[in-house]
Amino acid sequence: MTDQDKNISFLSDIPAPKMTRIAVFGGTFDPVHNGHLSLASALLEADRADEVLFIPAGRPPHKTQGTHATPEQRLEMLNLAIEHHDAFAVSDIEVMRQGEPSYTIDTLIVLAEIYPDCQLQFLLGMDSLLELHKWHRVGDLVRRFDFVVFPRPGVRPPTQSDLAGKLGVRSAVKLLDSVATELPVFPVSSTEVRARCVKGLLIDEQCPVPVAQYIEERGLYKAPA
Ligand code: ATP
Repeated sequence: MTDQDKNISFLSDIPAPKMTRIAVFGGTFDPVHNGHLSLASALLEADRADEVLFIPAGRPPHKTQGTHATPEQRLEMLNLAIEHHDAFAVSDIEVMRQGEPSYTIDTLIVLAEIYPDCQLQFLLGMDSLLELHKWHRVGDLVRRFDFVVFPRPGVRPPTQSDLAGKLGVRSAVKLLDSVATELPVFPVSSTEVRARCVKGLLIDEQCPVPVAQYIEERGLYKAPA
């Protein structure tokens, strides 16, 4: 064995550096609440991800009504919510794409270019898994990216044959392997927060304090949807 061969075999014994796993958490976040933050924390505690990147949607393709805060306000509230969490970050990538629909695949392709040395994992609620076949370029999306599917209250996982009927066997297997059954569910929603604001009720149990203050100071969500 030459000296060069020895070096090569020595190098092949060194494990590749572990890639940082970034969980990409998309949503309307109108407003961000403790359910979102608790899920993100549970993900880190379960060692499913190293960092969580929150991405508020600009103009969500599935939710075109009932949004009362502007995209900029939703972004500001997210920044307030994560300010004491070192492993959380917020991206304005979709909010800045003014006027265009925010398709997940487009966002992930851009993020993959921005973070070439990280492993991106898209966070998907079990409710969204049932609707995933309607998403833009879903075949590409599932082929190219990794997922963590988290439980949602009252939503049962689809069977493999149901999912395969909609997305094909390969995607169905990949997605069902990505279900993180160990993650808890947190019974709070942005709809509930907005409804409480309409009624003039406190929201400091549902939202982080700076977010509740922001909403209060600006009188957000006072008018019914
Ligand atoms: P809305 O009530 O307006 O539909 P939401 O509370 O479901 O809003 P979204 O901004 O639509 O919040 O959700 C963003 C992501 O967070 C989605 O993937 C959704 O499944 C997830 N999510 C929402 N609420 C919770 C919760 N309580 N626990 C865990 N995940 C949640």
